[in-house]
Amino acid sequence: MMKVKVDAEKCIGCQLCVQVAPDLFDMAEDKAVAKSETVPEGQEDICRDASQQCPVEAIPIEE
Ligand code: SF4
Repeated sequence: MMKVKVDAEKCIGCQLCVQVAPDLFDMAEDKAVAKSETVPEGQEDICRDASQQCPVEAIPIEE
């Protein structure tokens, strides 16, 4: 079961993760948040994409 979160200390609010994976991330004020700590089945690849594309590496994943 893959787990994901957003490190609010690092997030710069660029919204890229929300554009890449709108089912997984949302904006809360000026920071992104993971909609769920547990990544739904079938969304793992898109979650990895979002994590890799985050410009400040603020999306740690636990596999
Ligand atoms: S891609 Fe990274 S910096 Fe940009 S909103 Fe998402 S978590 Fe924040």
